[in-house]
Amino acid sequence: MIIDFHAHIYPDKIAAKASAAIGEFYDAPMAWHGTVEELIASGDKIGVDKYVVLSAATKVEQVEPINNYILGEVAKQPKFIGFGTILPGYTDFENEMKRIRAAGLRGIKIHPDFQKFQIDSSAMDPVYEVLSDLGMPILVHAGDCRYDFSGPKRIANVLDKHPKLKLIAAHFGGYTEWGAATEYLVGRRVWFDTSSTFWKLPMADAKTMMRKHGVDKFLFGSDFPMWDHADEWSRFVQLGLQGDDLDAVLYKNALSLLGLSE
Ligand SMILES: [Zn+2]
Repeated sequence: MIIDFHAHIYPDKIAAKASAAIGEFYDAPMAWHGTVEELIASGDKIGVDKYVVLSAATKVEQVEPINNYILGEVAKQPKFIGFGTILPGYTDFENEMKRIRAAGLRGIKIHPDFQKFQIDSSAMDPVYEVLSDLGMPILVHAGDCRYDFSGPKRIANVLDKHPKLKLIAAHFGGYTEWGAATEYLVGRRVWFDTSSTFWKLPMADAKTMMRKHGVDKFLFGSDFPMWDHADEWSRFVQLGLQGDDLDAVLYKNALSLLGLSE
């Protein structure tokens, strides 16, 4: 079984534009535009069984429409596990998180670099508290040496203040900041996803981080539409994971974090 813990989806009408904006932000060509149809086509190449699907609001008025969009896609596609969006300034966050949870979403995704807030900003504390109380995981974009929104040290501050929060720091804990991820996050109670890492982090360093942090706290993710699943898979397998360790990263850790069974 394979669970892709990090897949972005966009409505067909805006997918080309949305993915172009992300490609510009990261100065990288996008493998796909990010429609649902494309996601399934890309994931089918490696036999993905389930996808954690996400979409981030950059304005407060987008929070409910985007959450409703994810809910709608989850209702149509049994392979989808939906994560909602939130951002500081959206004042009714507690009711919104309870609403989307009751409707079937399993967690929240934030991208502080796009959404333009510091991840350890006190404005987010009430949100993290509600998520801790609800037991809802939060997947956070982590790190970028060009910015100071979501770096590993700031994530460590969040973990210090919210010890019950189930936080997944994407991209091995810090996109282009793997030294800081090792310093501040490795060994702590925080999960890492494997997405958008192997294009840059040498495989020997990735293996060392995984051994030190613990294979039980890693989740396979593609960061679709940034990467095609077959291409990302060809890099992932170079970790050389086998047997129980491979199953843990591909799906078992994800199931237990989400409270799901096979
Ligand atoms: Zn992402």
